[in-house]
Amino acid sequence: MKKRVQHLLVFSNKTIRFILISILSITSYTLWAQESTPEPVKNVIIMIGDGMGLAQTYAAYTVNKEKLNIFQFPVTGLLLTYSSDNYITDSAAGGTAFACGKKTKNGYLGKDETGKDIKNLFEIAKEKSLSTGLVVTCAITHATPAAFYAHVSGRNDYEKIAIDFTKSNIDVAIGGGKKYFQNRSDKKNLINDLQSNGYHVSYTIDQINQDATRNLCLLADEDLPTVSAGRGNVLAEATSKALQILSKNNQGFILMVEGSQIDWGGHANDIDYVVKETIDFDKAVGVALEFARENKNTLVLVIADHETGGLSITGGNITEGKIDTHFASNNHTALPVIVYAFGPSNYIFTGVYQNTDIFFKIKQLLKL
Ligand code: MG
Ligand code: ZN
Repeated sequence: MKKRVQHLLVFSNKTIRFILISILSITSYTLWAQESTPEPVKNVIIMIGDGMGLAQTYAAYTVNKEKLNIFQFPVTGLLLTYSSDNYITDSAAGGTAFACGKKTKNGYLGKDETGKDIKNLFEIAKEKSLSTGLVVTCAITHATPAAFYAHVSGRNDYEKIAIDFTKSNIDVAIGGGKKYFQNRSDKKNLINDLQSNGYHVSYTIDQINQDATRNLCLLADEDLPTVSAGRGNVLAEATSKALQILSKNNQGFILMVEGSQIDWGGHANDIDYVVKETIDFDKAVGVALEFARENKNTLVLVIADHETGGLSITGGNITEGKIDTHFASNNHTALPVIVYAFGPSNYIFTGVYQNTDIFFKIKQLLKL
């Protein structure tokens, strides 16, 4: 009898130990799982600084007295930018790489190098009921935004690109380019077509109708003015407005915002133009960051299609916010550009990879 009691005691000690270990394991696994499973990504904000290399960003950081939202991003990577037919990409092939996941010839938009149409992220997102948006400081028909909706082999065919826009069903688009919709060589008025397709067409940010099915806001006949010419805080305000509209969709959204004119400052070898446009773009990045801090399932990427101008910083003073600079080119250069990532799963953007991988990584995170 005594022996049996002892045996029972041993058995129950073992059982208790087993139960305790099980509880501890489950608890620690749950904690580990909470730590290591990132929030699912519902929204992606793609911020493209056209022609924005590291020198452009560091010049802006210095002149802006060491304040730059872009430098708050915890994860960075490097993008290889060459196109299918040129070591140095243009913005059409660069935009197509991001939007369609395929390297193509310079000048091509939404087409592979054989001229075949390729589906873009916005079209794929639409099929899964996500909303899409574009905010730019150039004409909405210019290469970078057009890569997200057009399929043409000539990036300068703005009137054809405007027709492709009318077929895109993009939920909100804000930028310039009114004349390609209204004042066309074929005398068509695309504004009428857009309105009958549920678009609210407006000409100032205040006129945008948040409750309309879709919004196209055309802020200029062609490109928007430069910051120096008094563009004001349009890019940041437009980004904020687009986010208000797009975030109404519980399925999620993809928004592309472009600092379009950083590139033009580079082509002009005008450092003041480059710096002002980069600081302006950075304000829009600040709006996106604030949104992502409040909406945890939002990923923000800051990327560039290429560097422009071969800009280097040869001297300066960080406390005075002064820089000495040198441009090695008045065109694009081959240098890899930087990816900055904020939000859930941002760690997958570290390393050195192809510009086309931006498409595949976004597709993977949004489960498209
Ligand atoms: Mg561009
Ligand atoms: Zn350029």
